[in-house]
Amino acid sequence: MTTEFELIERYFSRSAGDARLGVGDDAAVVAPAPGHDLVVTTDTIVSGVHFLRDAEPRSLGNKALAVNLSDLAAMGARPRWALLALTLPKADDEWLSAFAEGFHDLARRHEVALIGGDTTRGPLAITVTAFGEIASGSALRRDAAQVDDELWVSGQIGSAALALRHIRGEVRLKGKGLEACMARLETPVPRVELGKALVGVASSAIDVSDGLVADAGHVCACSAVGMEISYADVPSISEVTHLKGDQVIREALLAGGDDYELLFTVPAGEARQMDAISARLGLALTRIGRVVAGAGVRVLDESGESIAVDIGGYEHFAGGTPPTDAAVCAG
Ligand code: ADP
Ligand code: MG
Repeated sequence: MTTEFELIERYFSRSAGDARLGVGDDAAVVAPAPGHDLVVTTDTIVSGVHFLRDAEPRSLGNKALAVNLSDLAAMGARPRWALLALTLPKADDEWLSAFAEGFHDLARRHEVALIGGDTTRGPLAITVTAFGEIASGSALRRDAAQVDDELWVSGQIGSAALALRHIRGEVRLKGKGLEACMARLETPVPRVELGKALVGVASSAIDVSDGLVADAGHVCACSAVGMEISYADVPSISEVTHLKGDQVIREALLAGGDDYELLFTVPAGEARQMDAISARLGLALTRIGRVVAGAGVRVLDESGESIAVDIGGYEHFAGGTPPTDAAVCAG
């Protein structure tokens, strides 16, 4: 029988990096670089809500950290440290070793040190708290989009949602397209380098977790502006571009969540700089719309007509009713 302390020692005690104190004391001690703000975020993933009950532990370890790094990326922060609170039904060595591998692999890639956490018994749930840093006062926020800014998005949109619909039998993907979509769903890639590159360039940013239109709506609500999105410009995997008129595909692109791409606004006339960032990072950046006076998000087809979107993003306490454009904004 593995005890709680053996478990922590075996799977979660790693180098504390440059933290003053890591795993093993009552609390960790860290100091951000002088002249920097600490950027802090936490996200929980729960079995049966955020992942399927039989989800592969390696990808869960990756995802639990990735969703937090994605939040730091959306603030433009450089990730530094993480805490891991694990609730487990049992201490299963095979599961734990795969989970820890997924977690530590991603942590290593972004030079994030695991500096503490908590381990309890109960229905499987994983909470990660991530700490990043950014030059004081320069965090990218949701509340600073300006009328006439352009709206840009990274990578491809809708892939994770397409993978889910494929699993449910609502669309049929195959070959490279299927592979790309499943990878997106199981091992999302936080756009950390892009977030850092956008500091001082983007006027606002958010990561796409609820769905493209829902997340654009959060920025609109916080910035007191409206947005127009050109549906034809929304980037998808090439395998479905000729199917964008299809209802299921359209929903995946506009309302599907879990993309973990960055959606950001940039003052007009920065296209050259966007191209340079895109080339340097090897990551597609696409202009999909603009910020307008008013409120809410309008999606337009090629003839400029509004497309109705059921944004349907997941709302934990709404009993299935889709949220409106309402957003909680920083005070
Ligand atoms: P306490 O009882 O003081 O809360 P714990 O026994 O919960 O301490 O934890 C002992 C040490 O192990 C602490 O430094 C804590 O941060 C760390 N720890 C516990 N669980 C984890 C985990 N899942 N991952 C990383 N560190 C952990
Ligand atoms: Mg504890």
